[in-house]
Amino acid sequence: MAHSVTLIPGDGIGPELTEATRRVLEATGVEFEWDVQHAGTDVMERNDGDPLPQHVLDAISETGVALKGPITTPVGGGFRSVNVGLRKALDLYGQVRPCKSYEGVRSRFDDVDLVIIRENTEDLYAGIEYEQGTEDADELIAWIESRGGKLRHGDAGISIKPLSVTGTRRIVQFAFDHARRNGRRKVTAVHKANIMKFTDGLYLRVAQQVAAENTDIEFDERIVDNMCMQLVQRPEEYDVLVCPNLYGDIVSDLCAGMIGGLGMAPGGNFGEKAAIFEPTHGSAPKYAGQNKVNPIAQMLSGVMMLRHLEEGDAAERVEGAIAEVIREGRSVTYDMKPTRDDPTAVGTSEVADAIIDKLGVRV
Ligand code: NAD
Repeated sequence: MAHSVTLIPGDGIGPELTEATRRVLEATGVEFEWDVQHAGTDVMERNDGDPLPQHVLDAISETGVALKGPITTPVGGGFRSVNVGLRKALDLYGQVRPCKSYEGVRSRFDDVDLVIIRENTEDLYAGIEYEQGTEDADELIAWIESRGGKLRHGDAGISIKPLSVTGTRRIVQFAFDHARRNGRRKVTAVHKANIMKFTDGLYLRVAQQVAAENTDIEFDERIVDNMCMQLVQRPEEYDVLVCPNLYGDIVSDLCAGMIGGLGMAPGGNFGEKAAIFEPTHGSAPKYAGQNKVNPIAQMLSGVMMLRHLEEGDAAERVEGAIAEVIREGRSVTYDMKPTRDDPTAVGTSEVADAIIDKLGVRV
């Protein structure tokens, strides 16, 4: 039976990446019924200024699975991130970002195999913010000062960082479950509990409690700044990292840099009722419509989706075909060549053609 999957092409480079990925997934012989849905700036006008219409959320709830391209978020103003909005609205609290080296990728590191698990619904991404100079911000500052707090400067904007026992407990348990299901050996909790005692301090304490209930898997913890240094010095000592939202975002880009760049880093967002698969990278608007960027991160997100749909055999075949194309180094995009202006670099859709060829079919 065909799998019903919501397909959100996104904007910027999203549509060309999701199209290349759709072709590769279909070449496995697994059948899909794609329900194409649009979100982001392009649909705002048609939906009373809403970049994330309710019918898109309903569609994902219906299929339970989505393959999504990146969606642009205005910087410093404008609407809130549709990507974050989707994860929060569907309570997709667990983000999984595997960072694995493939032979043939140009990188300073050659044997990285890490999984970053990021909490998706809390932390500074909660969207509870007070703009500098507004009545609300001034009132909040007055309240803080009346309770003995002191701001260095009164003309501050304020973002609130909630980390809860419930949210921490479920993401750390999710990390242990992921480790167990995937035969991984260790979970490391990443925090800054030395400075933020009531948020990261809580996170660390709860992580330690959850670890005590999952003693079949090794556990340790690292302060986030030290974690970053250790990752570049001895990545082999780490396995699964479980992070609050913001550190998870930053650490996963750091790890993407270790495996050949953002074009190689896939991801999935999981909740009790739905999952959305999307790469770590964004919409890279300057490359939109040029058939230029690397589709592999999007395709590896598709591989994660195949595994989620229990199409393990097809997932292995696609990952194997991708690995072979990378190893050969011929049909790869500019970011995977020795120099960025290498004239032998191919385009996004030609990478898909080469992978489909390796799968042994022509479409
Ligand atoms: P970005 O990831 O879009 O691009 C940064 C740089 O990384 C690009 O200029 C390009 O050099 C490189 N890059 C990214 N993807 C690549 C690929 N597939 N192949 C080759 N090179 C690639 O980050 P940004 O410029 O900070 O963000 C652009 C927009 O994307 C912003 O609006 C941001 O909010 C949004 N964004 C969306 C998501 C998402 O949809 N989940 C994630 C991150 C950023």
